[in-house]
Amino acid sequence: MTTIKSYVCSVRFSIIVVFCVMVLGTIGYFAFANTHNESTADGAQSDHSTHDEHSSQHIDGDHDDHANFSATIAIPQIVLWEQDEEIKILRDYLRIPTPHPDIDYKPCVNFLQVLASNLNFSMQISYPADEQNPIVLMTWPGSQPELPTIVLNSHMDVVPVYEEFWTHPPFAAEMDNKGNIYARGAQDMKSVGMQYLAAIRALHRDGVQQLKRTIHVLFVPDEELGGRRGMAAFVKTDQFNSLNVGLLLDEGGPVESGPLGVLVGERTIWQIEFTFHGHSGHGSRLFNNTAGEKLNYVLNKFMEFRKEEMKKLNELRYPYGNVTTINLTKVKGGVENNVIPPEMSATFDIRISINVDLDEFEQMLRRWCDEAGGNITMNFAERGIKEEVTSIDSVYWQAFKNATNEIGIEVEPTIRIGASDSRFIRRLGIAALGFSPMPNTIPKLHEHNEYINAGTYLKGIDAYKKIIVNLGNLGNV
Ligand code: ZN
Repeated sequence: MTTIKSYVCSVRFSIIVVFCVMVLGTIGYFAFANTHNESTADGAQSDHSTHDEHSSQHIDGDHDDHANFSATIAIPQIVLWEQDEEIKILRDYLRIPTPHPDIDYKPCVNFLQVLASNLNFSMQISYPADEQNPIVLMTWPGSQPELPTIVLNSHMDVVPVYEEFWTHPPFAAEMDNKGNIYARGAQDMKSVGMQYLAAIRALHRDGVQQLKRTIHVLFVPDEELGGRRGMAAFVKTDQFNSLNVGLLLDEGGPVESGPLGVLVGERTIWQIEFTFHGHSGHGSRLFNNTAGEKLNYVLNKFMEFRKEEMKKLNELRYPYGNVTTINLTKVKGGVENNVIPPEMSATFDIRISINVDLDEFEQMLRRWCDEAGGNITMNFAERGIKEEVTSIDSVYWQAFKNATNEIGIEVEPTIRIGASDSRFIRRLGIAALGFSPMPNTIPKLHEHNEYINAGTYLKGIDAYKKIIVNLGNLGNV
Protein backbone atom coordinates (compact mmCIF):
# COMPACT_ATOMS: atom_id res chain seq x y z
CA MET A 1 0.00 0.00 0.00
CA THR A 2 2.88 2.36 0.95
CA THR A 3 4.62 1.71 -2.34
CA ILE A 4 1.46 2.32 -4.26
CA LYS A 5 0.86 5.55 -2.37
CA SER A 6 4.38 6.86 -2.93
CA TYR A 7 4.08 5.94 -6.59
CA VAL A 8 0.82 7.80 -6.75
CA CYS A 9 2.36 10.79 -4.96
CA SER A 10 5.25 10.90 -7.37
CA VAL A 11 2.89 10.65 -10.32
CA ARG A 12 0.79 13.44 -8.91
CA PHE A 13 3.85 15.53 -8.14
CA SER A 14 5.03 15.08 -11.72
CA ILE A 15 1.64 16.07 -13.01
CA ILE A 16 1.67 19.24 -10.94
CA VAL A 17 5.19 20.13 -12.10
CA VAL A 18 4.35 19.44 -15.74
CA PHE A 19 1.19 21.36 -15.35
CA CYS A 20 2.84 24.39 -13.76
CA VAL A 21 5.36 24.54 -16.60
CA MET A 22 2.52 24.38 -19.07
CA VAL A 23 0.68 27.10 -17.18
CA LEU A 24 3.70 29.44 -17.42
CA GLY A 25 3.96 28.85 -21.14
CA THR A 26 0.31 28.94 -22.02
CA ILE A 27 -1.58 30.81 -19.35
CA GLY A 28 -4.18 32.07 -21.77
CA TYR A 29 -4.81 28.62 -23.15
CA PHE A 30 -5.29 27.01 -19.79
CA ALA A 31 -7.48 29.77 -18.41
CA PHE A 32 -10.18 28.70 -20.80
CA ALA A 33 -9.18 25.12 -21.45
CA ASN A 34 -12.07 22.77 -21.83
CA THR A 35 -11.38 20.03 -19.32
CA HIS A 36 -13.00 17.56 -21.66
CA ASN A 37 -10.21 18.10 -24.14
CA GLU A 38 -8.04 15.00 -24.01
CA SER A 39 -4.94 17.06 -24.87
CA THR A 40 -4.90 18.65 -21.40
CA ALA A 41 -4.33 15.20 -19.98
CA ASP A 42 -0.97 14.55 -21.65
CA GLY A 43 1.15 12.38 -19.45
CA ALA A 44 -1.47 11.97 -16.74
CA GLN A 45 -1.71 8.33 -15.76
CA SER A 46 -4.70 7.03 -13.95
CA ASP A 47 -4.24 4.62 -11.11
CA HIS A 48 -7.33 2.81 -9.90
CA SER A 49 -6.00 2.31 -6.41
CA THR A 50 -6.11 6.03 -5.77
CA HIS A 51 -9.80 6.60 -5.27
CA ASP A 52 -9.33 7.85 -1.73
CA GLU A 53 -6.63 10.19 -2.92
CA HIS A 54 -8.91 11.57 -5.61
CA SER A 55 -11.77 12.32 -3.33
CA SER A 56 -9.74 13.69 -0.46
CA GLN A 57 -7.91 16.03 -2.78
CA HIS A 58 -11.22 17.25 -4.09
CA ILE A 59 -12.61 17.82 -0.62
CA ASP A 60 -9.45 19.28 0.90
CA GLY A 61 -8.91 22.02 -1.68
CA ASP A 62 -8.67 25.25 0.32
CA HIS A 63 -9.88 28.01 -1.92
CA ASP A 64 -9.67 30.87 0.58
CA ASP A 65 -6.08 30.87 1.80
CA HIS A 66 -4.26 29.33 -1.13
CA ALA A 67 -6.43 30.20 -4.08
CA ASN A 68 -3.62 30.09 -6.64
CA PHE A 69 -2.19 26.81 -5.42
CA SER A 70 -5.65 25.26 -5.26
CA ALA A 71 -6.27 26.31 -8.81
CA THR A 72 -3.17 24.49 -9.95
CA ILE A 73 -4.13 21.24 -8.24
CA ALA A 74 -7.85 21.45 -9.01
CA ILE A 75 -7.39 21.06 -12.74
CA PRO A 76 -5.15 17.97 -12.59
CA GLN A 77 -7.83 16.38 -10.43
CA ILE A 78 -10.29 16.82 -13.26
CA VAL A 79 -7.69 15.54 -15.67
CA LEU A 80 -7.23 12.45 -13.53
CA TRP A 81 -10.95 11.89 -13.44
CA GLU A 82 -11.19 12.39 -17.20
CA GLN A 83 -8.54 9.73 -17.64
CA ASP A 84 -9.75 7.31 -14.99
CA GLU A 85 -10.72 4.02 -16.58
CA GLU A 86 -13.69 3.52 -14.23
CA ILE A 87 -15.03 7.00 -14.90
CA LYS A 88 -14.74 6.30 -18.62
CA ILE A 89 -16.71 3.06 -18.28
CA LEU A 90 -19.40 4.80 -16.24
CA ARG A 91 -19.74 7.59 -18.79
CA ASP A 92 -19.89 5.13 -21.69
CA TYR A 93 -22.70 3.26 -19.95
CA LEU A 94 -24.59 6.48 -19.22
CA ARG A 95 -24.32 7.41 -22.91
CA ILE A 96 -26.41 4.38 -23.91
CA PRO A 97 -29.93 5.80 -23.89
CA THR A 98 -32.44 3.59 -22.10
CA PRO A 99 -35.35 5.92 -21.28
CA HIS A 100 -38.96 4.73 -21.39
CA PRO A 101 -40.98 4.16 -23.48
CA ASP A 102 -40.03 1.47 -26.06
CA ILE A 103 -36.51 0.87 -24.87
CA ASP A 104 -34.09 -0.98 -27.11
CA TYR A 105 -31.91 -2.81 -24.59
CA LYS A 106 -29.61 -4.41 -27.19
CA PRO A 107 -26.82 -1.80 -27.06
CA CYS A 108 -26.94 -1.95 -23.27
CA VAL A 109 -26.74 -5.76 -23.22
CA ASN A 110 -23.87 -5.72 -25.74
CA PHE A 111 -22.00 -3.25 -23.54
CA LEU A 112 -22.50 -5.47 -20.48
CA GLN A 113 -21.34 -8.49 -22.49
CA VAL A 114 -17.97 -6.80 -23.05
CA LEU A 115 -17.63 -6.00 -19.34
CA ALA A 116 -18.48 -9.59 -18.40
CA SER A 117 -15.97 -10.98 -20.90
CA ASN A 118 -13.24 -8.71 -19.55
CA LEU A 119 -13.89 -10.13 -16.08
CA ASN A 120 -14.01 -13.70 -17.44
CA PHE A 121 -17.53 -13.98 -16.05
CA SER A 122 -20.20 -16.11 -17.63
CA MET A 123 -23.21 -14.04 -18.66
CA GLN A 124 -26.70 -15.36 -19.19
CA ILE A 125 -29.41 -13.42 -20.99
CA SER A 126 -33.00 -14.50 -20.45
CA TYR A 127 -36.41 -13.11 -21.37
CA PRO A 128 -38.92 -14.17 -18.70
CA ALA A 129 -41.57 -11.61 -19.70
CA ASP A 130 -41.10 -10.90 -23.42
CA GLU A 131 -38.30 -10.56 -25.94
CA GLN A 132 -38.07 -6.78 -25.49
CA ASN A 133 -37.08 -7.17 -21.84
CA PRO A 134 -33.83 -9.02 -21.22
CA ILE A 135 -32.50 -10.09 -17.84
CA VAL A 136 -28.71 -10.06 -17.73
CA LEU A 137 -26.96 -12.20 -15.14
CA MET A 138 -23.20 -12.34 -14.58
CA THR A 139 -21.73 -14.83 -12.17
CA TRP A 140 -18.58 -14.85 -10.03
CA PRO A 141 -18.49 -18.37 -8.60
CA GLY A 142 -17.63 -18.73 -4.92
CA SER A 143 -15.39 -21.33 -3.33
CA GLN A 144 -18.41 -22.68 -1.41
CA PRO A 145 -21.12 -22.61 -4.07
CA GLU A 146 -23.56 -24.40 -1.79
CA LEU A 147 -23.87 -21.25 0.36
CA PRO A 148 -26.73 -18.85 -0.41
CA THR A 149 -25.57 -16.31 -2.97
CA ILE A 150 -25.29 -12.54 -2.96
CA VAL A 151 -27.01 -10.71 -5.82
CA LEU A 152 -25.92 -7.22 -6.84
CA ASN A 153 -28.93 -5.85 -8.66
CA SER A 154 -29.45 -2.76 -10.78
CA HIS A 155 -32.01 -1.75 -13.37
CA MET A 156 -30.97 -0.78 -16.88
CA ASP A 157 -33.97 1.40 -17.67
CA VAL A 158 -34.32 5.08 -16.82
CA VAL A 159 -37.21 7.53 -16.75
CA PRO A 160 -37.80 9.92 -19.69
CA VAL A 161 -36.16 13.34 -19.89
CA TYR A 162 -37.32 16.85 -20.70
CA GLU A 163 -34.15 17.74 -22.54
CA GLU A 164 -34.92 21.47 -22.73
CA PHE A 165 -34.57 21.74 -18.94
CA TRP A 166 -31.14 20.12 -18.81
CA THR A 167 -28.00 22.24 -18.62
CA HIS A 168 -26.06 19.34 -20.19
CA PRO A 169 -27.44 16.86 -22.74
CA PRO A 170 -28.96 13.99 -20.72
CA PHE A 171 -27.20 11.18 -22.59
CA ALA A 172 -23.79 12.77 -23.13
CA ALA A 173 -22.42 12.21 -19.61
CA GLU A 174 -20.53 15.50 -19.70
CA MET A 175 -18.36 16.33 -16.70
CA ASP A 176 -18.20 19.89 -15.38
CA ASN A 177 -15.18 21.45 -13.71
CA LYS A 178 -16.28 20.16 -10.28
CA GLY A 179 -16.31 16.60 -11.55
CA ASN A 180 -20.09 16.37 -11.67
CA ILE A 181 -21.16 13.99 -14.44
CA TYR A 182 -24.61 14.82 -15.81
CA ALA A 183 -26.79 12.08 -17.26
CA ARG A 184 -30.15 10.38 -16.83
CA GLY A 185 -29.32 7.31 -14.75
CA ALA A 186 -26.35 8.94 -12.99
CA GLN A 187 -28.17 8.43 -9.66
CA ASP A 188 -31.01 6.11 -10.62
CA MET A 189 -29.23 3.74 -11.00
CA LYS A 190 -26.84 2.98 -13.81
CA SER A 191 -23.97 4.29 -11.69
CA VAL A 192 -24.60 1.63 -9.05
CA GLY A 193 -24.57 -1.15 -11.66
CA MET A 194 -21.16 0.05 -12.84
CA GLN A 195 -19.86 0.42 -9.26
CA TYR A 196 -20.62 -3.25 -8.58
CA LEU A 197 -18.49 -4.32 -11.54
CA ALA A 198 -15.80 -1.72 -10.83
CA ALA A 199 -15.49 -3.02 -7.26
CA ILE A 200 -15.10 -6.59 -8.50
CA ARG A 201 -12.46 -5.49 -11.03
CA ALA A 202 -10.62 -3.74 -8.21
CA LEU A 203 -10.82 -6.86 -6.04
CA HIS A 204 -9.39 -8.92 -8.89
CA ARG A 205 -6.56 -6.42 -9.24
CA ASP A 206 -5.95 -6.72 -5.48
CA GLY A 207 -5.55 -10.46 -5.98
CA VAL A 208 -8.95 -11.49 -4.61
CA GLN A 209 -9.84 -14.23 -7.05
CA GLN A 210 -12.68 -15.82 -5.14
CA LEU A 211 -14.95 -15.27 -2.16
CA LYS A 212 -16.76 -17.99 -0.24
CA ARG A 213 -20.13 -17.17 -1.73
CA THR A 214 -21.07 -16.91 -5.35
CA ILE A 215 -21.71 -13.32 -6.36
CA HIS A 216 -24.26 -12.63 -9.10
CA VAL A 217 -24.41 -9.27 -10.82
CA LEU A 218 -27.91 -8.76 -12.13
CA PHE A 219 -29.19 -6.16 -14.61
CA VAL A 220 -32.96 -5.95 -15.03
CA PRO A 221 -35.34 -4.01 -17.31
CA ASP A 222 -38.66 -2.30 -16.62
CA GLU A 223 -38.12 -1.25 -13.01
CA GLU A 224 -39.35 2.25 -13.69
CA LEU A 225 -42.68 0.89 -14.96
CA GLY A 226 -43.17 -1.31 -11.91
CA GLY A 227 -40.99 -4.30 -12.81
CA ARG A 228 -43.73 -6.56 -14.14
CA ARG A 229 -41.73 -7.27 -17.28
CA GLY A 230 -38.50 -7.38 -15.30
CA MET A 231 -37.86 -8.53 -11.76
CA ALA A 232 -41.47 -9.60 -11.06
CA ALA A 233 -41.31 -12.04 -13.97
CA PHE A 234 -37.74 -13.14 -13.24
CA VAL A 235 -38.41 -14.18 -9.62
CA LYS A 236 -40.97 -16.70 -10.88
CA THR A 237 -38.46 -18.57 -13.06
CA ASP A 238 -36.51 -21.76 -12.35
CA GLN A 239 -33.39 -19.78 -13.17
CA PHE A 240 -34.05 -17.44 -10.26
CA ASN A 241 -34.82 -20.34 -7.92
CA SER A 242 -31.58 -22.03 -8.88
CA LEU A 243 -29.62 -18.94 -7.76
CA ASN A 244 -30.36 -19.74 -4.09
CA VAL A 245 -30.28 -16.06 -3.17
CA GLY A 246 -29.36 -15.16 0.42
CA LEU A 247 -29.29 -11.38 0.00
CA LEU A 248 -29.98 -8.95 -2.80
CA LEU A 249 -28.46 -5.49 -2.89
CA ASP A 250 -30.52 -2.91 -4.75
CA GLU A 251 -30.88 0.82 -5.15
CA GLY A 252 -31.05 3.37 -2.37
CA GLY A 253 -30.84 7.09 -2.85
CA PRO A 254 -28.43 10.00 -2.45
CA VAL A 255 -28.44 12.36 0.51
CA GLU A 256 -27.27 15.94 0.71
CA SER A 257 -26.21 15.56 4.34
CA GLY A 258 -26.55 13.18 7.25
CA PRO A 259 -26.53 9.39 7.15
CA LEU A 260 -27.33 7.43 4.02
CA GLY A 261 -30.58 5.53 4.23
CA VAL A 262 -30.33 1.80 3.67
CA LEU A 263 -33.73 0.68 2.48
CA VAL A 264 -35.03 -2.35 4.33
CA GLY A 265 -38.71 -2.20 3.38
CA GLU A 266 -41.38 -0.41 1.42
CA ARG A 267 -44.88 0.81 1.97
CA THR A 268 -47.83 -0.88 0.29
CA ILE A 269 -49.15 0.72 -2.89
CA TRP A 270 -52.86 0.92 -3.59
CA GLN A 271 -54.22 2.81 -6.56
CA ILE A 272 -58.00 2.83 -6.52
CA GLU A 273 -60.55 4.24 -8.90
CA PHE A 274 -63.81 5.02 -7.10
CA THR A 275 -66.82 5.25 -9.39
CA PHE A 276 -69.77 7.08 -7.88
CA HIS A 277 -73.16 6.17 -9.30
CA GLY A 278 -76.04 8.52 -8.53
CA HIS A 279 -79.28 10.20 -9.43
CA SER A 280 -79.04 11.70 -12.89
CA GLY A 281 -81.22 14.44 -14.30
CA HIS A 282 -81.59 18.09 -15.27
CA GLY A 283 -79.01 20.49 -13.87
CA SER A 284 -81.78 22.76 -12.57
CA ARG A 285 -83.09 20.23 -10.01
CA LEU A 286 -81.95 19.28 -6.48
CA PHE A 287 -81.80 15.51 -6.16
CA ASN A 288 -80.41 13.42 -3.35
CA ASN A 289 -77.66 10.88 -3.93
CA THR A 290 -75.99 12.46 -6.92
CA ALA A 291 -72.60 11.22 -8.08
CA GLY A 292 -71.15 14.64 -7.26
CA GLU A 293 -72.34 14.52 -3.63
CA LYS A 294 -70.88 11.07 -3.13
CA LEU A 295 -67.59 12.09 -4.70
CA ASN A 296 -67.51 15.14 -2.46
CA TYR A 297 -68.09 13.03 0.68
CA VAL A 298 -65.39 10.47 -0.08
CA LEU A 299 -62.96 13.13 -1.27
CA ASN A 300 -63.44 15.06 1.99
CA LYS A 301 -62.81 11.92 4.03
CA PHE A 302 -59.59 11.32 2.11
CA MET A 303 -58.49 14.92 2.55
CA GLU A 304 -59.16 14.86 6.32
CA PHE A 305 -57.16 11.67 6.59
CA ARG A 306 -54.43 13.24 4.47
CA LYS A 307 -54.24 16.27 6.75
CA GLU A 308 -53.56 14.01 9.76
CA GLU A 309 -50.84 12.21 7.86
CA MET A 310 -49.26 15.52 6.85
CA LYS A 311 -49.18 16.45 10.53
CA LYS A 312 -47.30 13.22 11.30
CA LEU A 313 -44.82 13.97 8.56
CA ASN A 314 -44.27 17.69 9.05
CA GLU A 315 -44.97 18.34 12.73
CA LEU A 316 -44.31 15.04 14.44
CA ARG A 317 -41.39 14.28 12.09
CA TYR A 318 -42.40 10.71 11.39
CA PRO A 319 -40.30 9.10 8.68
CA TYR A 320 -42.12 8.51 5.39
CA GLY A 321 -42.29 4.78 6.08
CA ASN A 322 -44.63 5.46 9.01
CA VAL A 323 -46.88 7.82 7.11
CA THR A 324 -49.67 6.95 4.66
CA THR A 325 -49.59 9.25 1.66
CA ILE A 326 -52.77 9.96 -0.30
CA ASN A 327 -53.09 11.86 -3.53
CA LEU A 328 -56.03 12.47 -5.82
CA THR A 329 -54.57 11.75 -9.26
CA LYS A 330 -57.55 11.57 -11.67
CA VAL A 331 -61.11 12.88 -11.80
CA LYS A 332 -63.52 11.96 -14.58
CA GLY A 333 -67.20 12.53 -15.29
CA GLY A 334 -69.93 14.57 -16.89
CA VAL A 335 -70.92 15.27 -20.48
CA GLU A 336 -73.05 18.43 -20.53
CA ASN A 337 -73.11 21.57 -18.40
CA ASN A 338 -76.81 21.15 -17.60
CA VAL A 339 -76.94 17.38 -17.04
CA ILE A 340 -76.32 15.78 -13.65
CA PRO A 341 -74.18 12.81 -14.68
CA PRO A 342 -75.15 9.27 -13.64
CA GLU A 343 -71.55 8.58 -12.65
CA MET A 344 -68.25 10.27 -11.84
CA SER A 345 -64.95 8.76 -10.82
CA ALA A 346 -61.90 9.69 -8.80
CA THR A 347 -58.59 7.86 -8.57
CA PHE A 348 -56.32 7.98 -5.54
CA ASP A 349 -52.67 6.95 -5.30
CA ILE A 350 -52.21 5.62 -1.77
CA ARG A 351 -48.94 4.45 -0.17
CA ILE A 352 -49.81 2.74 3.07
CA SER A 353 -47.55 2.98 6.11
CA ILE A 354 -45.85 -0.25 7.21
CA ASN A 355 -47.72 0.02 10.56
CA VAL A 356 -51.21 -0.01 9.09
CA ASP A 357 -53.39 -3.11 9.02
CA LEU A 358 -54.51 -3.44 5.40
CA ASP A 359 -57.84 -5.13 6.19
CA GLU A 360 -58.77 -2.37 8.61
CA PHE A 361 -57.72 0.25 6.07
CA GLU A 362 -59.95 -1.27 3.40
CA GLN A 363 -62.87 -1.49 5.85
CA MET A 364 -62.47 2.22 6.53
CA LEU A 365 -62.66 3.02 2.80
CA ARG A 366 -65.74 0.85 2.35
CA ARG A 367 -67.38 2.52 5.37
CA TRP A 368 -66.81 5.94 3.77
CA CYS A 369 -68.52 4.66 0.63
CA ASP A 370 -71.52 3.46 2.65
CA GLU A 371 -71.72 6.75 4.52
CA ALA A 372 -71.64 8.58 1.19
CA GLY A 373 -74.84 6.77 0.17
CA GLY A 374 -73.53 3.54 -1.31
CA ASN A 375 -73.58 2.41 -4.93
CA ILE A 376 -69.89 3.22 -5.27
CA THR A 377 -67.52 0.76 -6.93
CA MET A 378 -63.87 0.46 -5.96
CA ASN A 379 -61.61 -0.69 -8.75
CA PHE A 380 -58.03 -1.47 -7.72
CA ALA A 381 -55.52 -0.59 -10.44
CA GLU A 382 -52.80 -1.58 -7.97
CA ARG A 383 -53.37 -3.57 -4.84
CA GLY A 384 -50.09 -4.27 -3.10
CA ILE A 385 -49.88 -6.78 -0.32
CA LYS A 386 -48.34 -6.21 3.10
CA GLU A 387 -44.66 -5.77 2.27
CA GLU A 388 -41.98 -7.69 4.13
CA VAL A 389 -39.25 -5.79 5.95
CA THR A 390 -35.67 -7.09 5.96
CA SER A 391 -34.57 -7.60 9.55
CA ILE A 392 -31.64 -5.62 10.86
CA ASP A 393 -30.94 -8.43 13.34
CA SER A 394 -29.56 -10.51 10.48
CA VAL A 395 -25.89 -11.28 9.85
CA TYR A 396 -26.29 -9.73 6.41
CA TRP A 397 -27.14 -6.38 7.94
CA GLN A 398 -24.25 -6.70 10.39
CA ALA A 399 -21.77 -7.55 7.63
CA PHE A 400 -23.08 -4.66 5.54
CA LYS A 401 -22.96 -2.22 8.45
CA ASN A 402 -19.43 -3.25 9.40
CA ALA A 403 -18.27 -2.57 5.84
CA THR A 404 -19.79 0.91 5.77
CA ASN A 405 -18.34 1.65 9.21
CA GLU A 406 -14.88 0.67 7.97
CA ILE A 407 -15.14 3.01 5.00
CA GLY A 408 -16.56 5.83 7.13
CA ILE A 409 -20.02 6.03 5.58
CA GLU A 410 -22.78 6.58 8.11
CA VAL A 411 -25.93 4.57 7.36
CA GLU A 412 -29.33 4.03 8.92
CA PRO A 413 -32.11 1.55 8.08
CA THR A 414 -35.02 3.27 6.33
CA ILE A 415 -38.36 2.48 4.71
CA ARG A 416 -38.47 3.50 1.09
CA ILE A 417 -40.74 6.38 0.02
CA GLY A 418 -41.47 4.91 -3.42
CA ALA A 419 -41.34 1.34 -4.65
CA SER A 420 -38.47 -0.71 -6.05
CA ASP A 421 -37.83 -4.20 -7.38
CA SER A 422 -36.70 -5.25 -3.90
CA ARG A 423 -40.32 -5.83 -2.91
CA PHE A 424 -40.50 -8.86 -5.22
CA ILE A 425 -37.48 -10.32 -3.43
CA ARG A 426 -38.65 -9.59 0.12
CA ARG A 427 -42.05 -11.12 -0.65
CA LEU A 428 -40.21 -14.42 -1.11
CA GLY A 429 -38.74 -14.06 2.36
CA ILE A 430 -35.31 -13.16 0.94
CA ALA A 431 -33.35 -10.28 2.48
CA ALA A 432 -32.87 -7.15 0.38
CA LEU A 433 -31.03 -3.94 1.18
CA GLY A 434 -31.30 -0.79 -0.93
CA PHE A 435 -28.16 1.29 -0.95
CA SER A 436 -26.60 3.89 -3.24
CA PRO A 437 -23.28 5.23 -1.91
CA MET A 438 -23.96 8.87 -2.74
CA PRO A 439 -23.42 11.11 0.29
CA ASN A 440 -23.15 14.90 -0.21
CA THR A 441 -25.24 14.60 -3.35
CA ILE A 442 -28.39 16.58 -4.16
CA PRO A 443 -31.10 13.99 -4.89
CA LYS A 444 -32.08 14.31 -8.56
CA LEU A 445 -33.82 11.01 -9.18
CA HIS A 446 -36.33 11.47 -11.99
CA GLU A 447 -35.47 15.19 -12.11
CA HIS A 448 -33.65 17.37 -14.61
CA ASN A 449 -29.84 17.57 -14.38
CA GLU A 450 -29.36 14.24 -12.61
CA TYR A 451 -25.67 13.92 -11.79
CA ILE A 452 -23.02 12.10 -9.83
CA ASN A 453 -19.70 13.52 -8.77
CA ALA A 454 -16.68 11.58 -10.03
CA GLY A 455 -15.07 11.61 -6.57
CA THR A 456 -18.27 10.32 -4.96
CA TYR A 457 -18.53 7.62 -7.60
CA LEU A 458 -14.97 6.40 -7.05
CA LYS A 459 -15.37 6.42 -3.28
CA GLY A 460 -18.51 4.36 -3.74
CA ILE A 461 -16.46 1.74 -5.55
CA ASP A 462 -14.25 1.47 -2.47
CA ALA A 463 -17.39 1.07 -0.36
CA TYR A 464 -18.65 -1.76 -2.53
CA LYS A 465 -15.26 -3.50 -2.39
CA LYS A 466 -15.62 -3.79 1.38
CA ILE A 467 -19.34 -4.60 1.25
CA ILE A 468 -18.90 -7.35 -1.34
CA VAL A 469 -15.99 -8.94 0.54
CA ASN A 470 -17.83 -8.85 3.87
CA LEU A 471 -21.01 -10.32 2.43
CA GLY A 472 -19.29 -12.74 0.10
CA ASN A 473 -17.16 -14.21 2.85
CA LEU A 474 -20.04 -14.87 5.25
CA GLY A 475 -20.15 -18.53 6.13
CA ASN A 476 -23.32 -20.45 6.73
CA VAL A 477 -25.95 -18.35 8.54
ZN1 ZN B 1 -34.29 3.28 -9.70
